[in-house]
Amino acid sequence: MTPKLARFIDSGVVATPAILVDLDRVAANFAALRAALPDAAIYYAVKANPAAPVLDRLVGLGSRFDAASIEEIRACLAAGAAPAALSFGNTVKKRSAIAEAFARGVDLFAFDSDEELAKIAAAAPGAKVYCRLAVSQDGADWPLSRKFGTTGAHARDLLLAARDLGLVAHGVSFHVGSQQTGVGAYQTAIGQAAMVFSDLRARGIDLRLLNLGGGFPTRYREDIPPIAAFGDAIMASVRAAFGNDLPDLLIEPGRAMVGDAGVAVSEVVLACNRREDDDRRWVYLDIGRFGGLAETEGEAIRYAISAPGVGGDETPAVLAGPSCDGVDVMYRETPYRLPAALKSGDRVLIHDTGAYVTSYASQGFNGFLPPQEHYL
Ligand SMILES: *Cc1c(COP(=O)(O)O)cnc(C)c1O
Repeated sequence: MTPKLARFIDSGVVATPAILVDLDRVAANFAALRAALPDAAIYYAVKANPAAPVLDRLVGLGSRFDAASIEEIRACLAAGAAPAALSFGNTVKKRSAIAEAFARGVDLFAFDSDEELAKIAAAAPGAKVYCRLAVSQDGADWPLSRKFGTTGAHARDLLLAARDLGLVAHGVSFHVGSQQTGVGAYQTAIGQAAMVFSDLRARGIDLRLLNLGGGFPTRYREDIPPIAAFGDAIMASVRAAFGNDLPDLLIEPGRAMVGDAGVAVSEVVLACNRREDDDRRWVYLDIGRFGGLAETEGEAIRYAISAPGVGGDETPAVLAGPSCDGVDVMYRETPYRLPAALKSGDRVLIHDTGAYVTSYASQGFNGFLPPQEHYL
């Protein structure tokens, strides 16, 4: 947690549940990403945290944006982003959304199927398109499953079709899975992409864009490699695969831009021992799965949790949310320890919750409101 967030919490004015985000840390993360990959354009993945203050700050820093819906496109434009700085990166788009984005000047679209390509050709004639490859997501704590991407051979055929439909066959993309902690994860994917480039060159198409996607991790409970290590590994792989003829590089960081800029402030609603054969304390917070901690599904993302000001011995704890739904348990398997003295009314901090929390919060399940957001 940054000193600015700590001071704000100490001031005592925060009603819970709340998410506080330090915009200076967002700016520092942008600078670190730029320093790690100076040759890559940065397209912030808006879904990680779409709040206007985040978008405003990133526009001011010269960031570009990866948007998944027409609503995210509108939010970026409202924040002052130029249409040419936007990529409509979802491979699943309504035709009306493609048409509106194109009418507003957006010229870069993702696809991975022939039907999507036909939609883009009809609704955004002459636009630049890139095809998403399916790549391994081993090493990612929050994989994007097999929902997106296609094979290299299919991508080649689709990009040839794109040209025949009057579009600009511009490049390829992939995503190695979110919270990817292996610096080598990009290497195989870059090799797969380079094969599509050379296949198409042999057929008279010069692709320009290599979109490396997101995936860069945030430090939660366990150490992660520094972002510079990812940059070095990626550039070594790109040089090995492309030689001197480097493509235009693009990254789409979401989590790494905002994750460690945020903290959740929560209140203990109940702390108790459920039954005599379970010595763990059950700690129910006023934020849970439905308050935005959706990435605790499968206990995939394991946030650091602290109870400042509550001392004494710690005991094993199960962490749950306040709702009446049985899935509203954050951590049952992962070992967590909290002070034995923790009781209702005490405050608990859930660290590094700047990414994928506010945007996942439900609108009022069981009547519980989403966390209040403070951008500082
Ligand atoms: C979600 C997403 C990202 C951001 O991923 P992170 O792991 O948060 O960096 C980037 N690109 C696409 C296409 C996405 O769907």
